[in-house]
Amino acid sequence: MRFLTADYLFPLYRNPIKEGVLQISDEGKVIDIIDHRSKIDFKKLEIYEGILCPGFINAHCHLELSFLKGEIDKGTKLVTFINTIRKKRNNYSQEDILKSIEHAEIEMKKNGIVAVGDICNNLDTIIQKKKGNLQYYNFVEFFQIFKEKEEETFLKIKEIQKKFIESKLKATIVPHSPYTVSTEMMGKISKNINSQNELISIHVEESKSEIELFKNKKGALYDWLNNIGANPQIWFKRNSSRAVVKELNFKKLMLVHNTFSKKVDFEENYYCVCPKANLYIEKTLPNFSIFNPKKLCVGTDSLASNNKLCILEEILEIQKNTDYDINSILKIASKNGAEALGFTELGTFSKGKKPGVNLVQYKNNKLQNQIKVLA
Ligand SMILES: [Zn+2]
Repeated sequence: MRFLTADYLFPLYRNPIKEGVLQISDEGKVIDIIDHRSKIDFKKLEIYEGILCPGFINAHCHLELSFLKGEIDKGTKLVTFINTIRKKRNNYSQEDILKSIEHAEIEMKKNGIVAVGDICNNLDTIIQKKKGNLQYYNFVEFFQIFKEKEEETFLKIKEIQKKFIESKLKATIVPHSPYTVSTEMMGKISKNINSQNELISIHVEESKSEIELFKNKKGALYDWLNNIGANPQIWFKRNSSRAVVKELNFKKLMLVHNTFSKKVDFEENYYCVCPKANLYIEKTLPNFSIFNPKKLCVGTDSLASNNKLCILEEILEIQKNTDYDINSILKIASKNGAEALGFTELGTFSKGKKPGVNLVQYKNNKLQNQIKVLA
């Protein structure tokens, strides 16, 4: 049994508590919250400077791309980014790829991350995930711009989904983005959902060229798709990414990036921002004022577009660019992501949960870039 206390306790299901105590079992299960440390025998207390909060949820990652760390230049823009990933993939041995995945997971754990919403295009990450060090919601991604290959790709990713589920790992087939999936396949993907507890994640409005593609039928993305001979139905009758998302006709959605979104019109949806990746690829940030902070999650994206898999560094960017208080920011880092991904035992210090415990430093009501994992 442990009694942890710091300057402030952030349970996230209720307001922060000054010098509150978090009572947990040796396995990290929350037993109780005590309103003040004076109520506990001093000798039993573990006293820290800083704040205590639940483990972080990395709501958007591509763990399988970890081998690309430092391989892609900053500010390359999306089309070049996607092409470079596809080209570089063949330069690495399977052993290198598996090692990079293992290292990336160790890094996430050290940075206080307890669960990940992870995009999968293959089975490279499955060995690591089966070890159960972190919890994963696997989004098996459908990406196919050629009409004649749609069915074949769908069968291939259904097979990948099956392998994850057989390994007792949560897995849902999701569309990559509005510009890589046709209307027909959007319908097929939402029909493939088996339970209302599942979540569909999709990359939305990550680049200016995505907005241009649907609005004006021109721009870098349009040129790329057109030159490569992609299915014109992808852009032909669709006027915006948000209109494409409606084709999914599905309740539980997480829209990722929204870097160039002017407004969001799905109050019920979850939104996920990846600030450092946006700065890396497009050198810009989303307009945070358009989001409802209660529905906002945060992700690192992959090591192809980030130097670290660290949620604390992501929320420091949010802190710098919004007027959200620490409590709202920590909800974005933990509670909202756990809710969106359906990790009911994570995200807050409610009794009975096993959410992980992070000690984070703060100064003048601002979080600082210093973290220690306590449980
Ligand atoms: Zn992504």
